[in-house]
Amino acid sequence: MIDLRSDTITKPSIEMRKAAYDSEVGDDVYGEDPTVNKLEEIAAEKLGKEAALFVTSGTQGNQIAALTHCKPGDELILESSAHIFLYEGAAVSALAGVQSRPIQGISGAMNPQDVKEAIRADDIHFPETSLICLENTHNKAGGAIVPLENMKEIYHIAKNANVAVHLDGARLFNAAVASGISVKEYAEYTDTVQFCLSKGLGAPVGSIIAGSHDFIKSAKKWRKRLGGGLRQSGIIAAPGIIALEKNIKRLAEDHQNAKILADGLANIKGLKVANQVETNIVLIDVTETGLSETAFIETIRGQGVLAGAYGTNHVRFVTHLDVTKEEIETVLQKINKALKH
Ligand SMILES: *Cc1c(COP(=O)(O)O)cnc(C)c1O
Repeated sequence: MIDLRSDTITKPSIEMRKAAYDSEVGDDVYGEDPTVNKLEEIAAEKLGKEAALFVTSGTQGNQIAALTHCKPGDELILESSAHIFLYEGAAVSALAGVQSRPIQGISGAMNPQDVKEAIRADDIHFPETSLICLENTHNKAGGAIVPLENMKEIYHIAKNANVAVHLDGARLFNAAVASGISVKEYAEYTDTVQFCLSKGLGAPVGSIIAGSHDFIKSAKKWRKRLGGGLRQSGIIAAPGIIALEKNIKRLAEDHQNAKILADGLANIKGLKVANQVETNIVLIDVTETGLSETAFIETIRGQGVLAGAYGTNHVRFVTHLDVTKEEIETVLQKINKALKH
């Protein structure tokens, strides 16, 4: 099977497994795990933030941000197909007691004017806007890069209104590698950032959230409340250090492979590439094959290719470090063959 369902499916490398084995550990709830501390220092440094915290998942990181920035009855503004809105089980409502205010963007980017107008005035009828969530790269928009200028404008609007900005940067390193803009530059227009170690960066577990010392102090308490205070977690933080040392630059290969895949798919009768393919995600519209998205996925599965359903008639392919350029060529041959039957 060639698995293009997600970049989360990568298996830890031998080097990562060895690093886990060799890692120096301690009780991280006491702040005594040197490997976790090192990972957090490296991550904070990269993002240009005062401090960082190792959390169990991207979802937990985003939720800790919502819990820390907001109080029950507040409202947060986000793009209408944001991961936090679509794919986190309404946790911002269930856990933080927050109402979401979705704003439709273009390729994952909200119009700053729309954001400005959505910020609530001081009125007894209204919830208080306490947070704006950005997402870069934008998953549902097919790994689209939200332009730095867009983030900057929204950040300035937020600061004028005394509203916090959180970046769901699950794939922020993909945006940085593809655009040539550093993660630090992106993070400059945010108060807090979450990124995943367990996606394109190839670590088996975990995410980072970063922000000010005060934010991380509160975030640590929320992580504990959520059951995310781990003990000798250097074992799982060590592969995260390797991910940051070794697997950032190579994301460019995933982006090249995604382009090769998209070009090849566009040449297959009945398939339309539905996104710009700026990073490692390819979305296709399968309408003209006469197959539903699930029937299409079953058909290519029969040839040994795995992809994910992505809304009506849409299918998502994600390139990652466990799939080579040669395998991408094979995928194209197999899909061609599958559709001819
Ligand atoms: C994957 C993803 C998350 C959640 O990360 P998990 O580690 O799967 O919980 C959050 N936001 C975006 C944009 C993602 O792609």
